[in-house]
Amino acid sequence: MDNRITILYIEDDPGSQVLVERVLGDAGFRVVVASRGLEGLEAAAKHLPNLILMDINLPDMTGREITTRLRADERFRSVPIVALTAQSQAGEREKAIAAGLTGYLTKPIDIDAFPSQVAHYLSGAKDAISLDALAQAQFEYNSELVLRLEQKVRELEQSNAELRRLDKIKEDFIQLTAHELRTPMTLIYGYSRLIQESPVVKRLKSESPEVKAFVDGLVESIERMSGVINEILTISRIATGRIELAIGPVNLMRTMERVLQDMSHIARQRNQSFTYDVRQFPTLLQADADLLALALSNVIGNAIKYTPDGGVISVTARTNPNSVVIAVKDTGIGINKEDQQRIFDRFYTANNTQLHSTSKTAFRGGGLGLGLAICKGIIEAHGGRIWVESEGRDEVKLPGSTFYIDLPLQAPAVRRVLT
Ligand code: ADP
Repeated sequence: MDNRITILYIEDDPGSQVLVERVLGDAGFRVVVASRGLEGLEAAAKHLPNLILMDINLPDMTGREITTRLRADERFRSVPIVALTAQSQAGEREKAIAAGLTGYLTKPIDIDAFPSQVAHYLSGAKDAISLDALAQAQFEYNSELVLRLEQKVRELEQSNAELRRLDKIKEDFIQLTAHELRTPMTLIYGYSRLIQESPVVKRLKSESPEVKAFVDGLVESIERMSGVINEILTISRIATGRIELAIGPVNLMRTMERVLQDMSHIARQRNQSFTYDVRQFPTLLQADADLLALALSNVIGNAIKYTPDGGVISVTARTNPNSVVIAVKDTGIGINKEDQQRIFDRFYTANNTQLHSTSKTAFRGGGLGLGLAICKGIIEAHGGRIWVESEGRDEVKLPGSTFYIDLPLQAPAVRRVLT
């Protein structure tokens, strides 16, 4: 157990640090050093020093500000805090006392006298100044604080504007790149379909398993790449507020039927079945038909992706006076509680989404982690809400997940949403 008296020295100049550490160390004190204001506050809380030596000009806060901050803390209300500074202009000492410092020593230190000067303050001594001088110094210190606050607010606003500018450049770059990639991709996609449909290729595929594997692999990869590019384009539009809703009357019954129809061939490949009753869906709501269909396809597509072969996906709707709540329930692997909010963030995927192996089947899962961020952007742009409920993730018990979309029957006229 170290019984020595602890001195905290808050100073950014290494030369002064070494000198004071040596002189006070030789005199039997334990010296702790901090180079910045915030670091000094942390060191004070950690070491609870008997006395603090304080430089006035520090990189982040002034010694006066650190002292005022320390004095607000009961633990440091009566600890001697002594300025040790090269500043010797008139009024500096008074300002330091007004800020809560106990005393004022100037650099360079007198090596012989320094330990007894410190001991003097440790014994309870305080520098005295007249009440008039104190009142004047307090006024000056307050004005200085307000000016510094103003300057910091300006700096923050400036760096915020700069960050927003850089963020916009990044979003523009992503959008431009995805856009430029989409044009050739559309052609590649079209040609790949033509190749697939061509009688010559069909014959070759039937004659050679190798050609069939090559062509199928090519087409599948092209479809995936084209899907990714479209997702990036949509999400960057949503993020930059460049997506504007084309609100019009939507027959949700028809939209749902169409989406489920489009999805049914993928579900069939996975031997999955849909259960739904289209009559539950309202036939008239005001929304952007295409974007709504995109959001619904994403949620239903996920239900298919994250449910093993043979699973069941049920889609239901409950219409309230002003809104409709759509629920998409699957019998899949489920989602852990801690992931349930984050899966709606951009590029967030719950662990190991690519390949799943459950007690029932092995199947391919994830993508880029953009689908649900897109859904959230679209649903919130409609003034609605999307969330998920699930007991947790378990690839053996398959607890399943239910995604809810609460959609107003009347979407706000134009709404831009940042995700
Ligand atoms: P991804 O392209 O990875 O599917 P999404 O944004 O659509 O991206 O989904 C994010 C993550 O949420 C997925 O990677 C997956 O871990 C999880 N997830 C989404 N839907 C389901 C679901 N129905 N069941 C289980 N996990 C899901």
